[in-house]
Amino acid sequence: MDHSISELRARSKDFTKGIRKMNFNQVEFVTSAANLKACPDDSLAEVAFAGRSNAGKSSAINTITGHNRLARISKTPGRTQLINFFALSEGRHLVDLPGYGFAKVPLKVKDKWQRELEQYLRQREALVGLILLSDIRHPLKEFDRMMIDWAVQSDLPLHILLTKSDKLKRGAAQNTLLAVQKEVAALDNVTLQLFSSLKNVGVDEARTKLSDWLASPDMIDEAGDTNNLTT
Ligand code: GDP
Repeated sequence: MDHSISELRARSKDFTKGIRKMNFNQVEFVTSAANLKACPDDSLAEVAFAGRSNAGKSSAINTITGHNRLARISKTPGRTQLINFFALSEGRHLVDLPGYGFAKVPLKVKDKWQRELEQYLRQREALVGLILLSDIRHPLKEFDRMMIDWAVQSDLPLHILLTKSDKLKRGAAQNTLLAVQKEVAALDNVTLQLFSSLKNVGVDEARTKLSDWLASPDMIDEAGDTNNLTT
């Protein structure tokens, strides 16, 4: 139910104080799911990546995890419309949601996919945050706005990566960042940043956000040092 999910999500936020960074290099493909029922059992925590096709989602997942070909799995025929799960250490998942806007898919399939996605976002208990990837040259299209609405309605923190920031000059990229920031300023728990896989812009910032969401006190040993974490 929505209420208990809000509580879980609020609790998971309390988990995360004082955490530095998880090790994102230890990651492996787990499985693909066609719908919520087929997803693996809820693990401790997971963060889902969403974006229109071609937004740079696969590149971002690869860059963040330091694995050149990891998210290519999500692009193999038969898997493009599935929810793909990658395991980090300690029961945390990164989840690659199907890219939206694939031109050749019939409307009926798109509707079905949209329903599955909404179900996953609303009901998946392990979900602690959503990364939304939006091309900086045309940010916040209809799909992006729908995702933001769902996240806000579901009490789910959402972090926007304005991708391919290298495609704009520095000043223009900053202006777009500020303009989008203004648009989402009134929304709780919506944050954003510049990101470029090509030029390694914002990678640490994105990893920090993921760590804030995913890490928990069992990753801090008694001396107060972090286990399994990079410095
Ligand atoms: P996805 O469909 O959202 O998974 O997008 P991809 O990661 O496959 O990227 C789509 C296209 O954008 C590819 O041609 C990538 O090479 C390109 N791309 C992805 N990230 C960047 C980036 O940071 N900078 C630039 N210039 N191109 C990028």
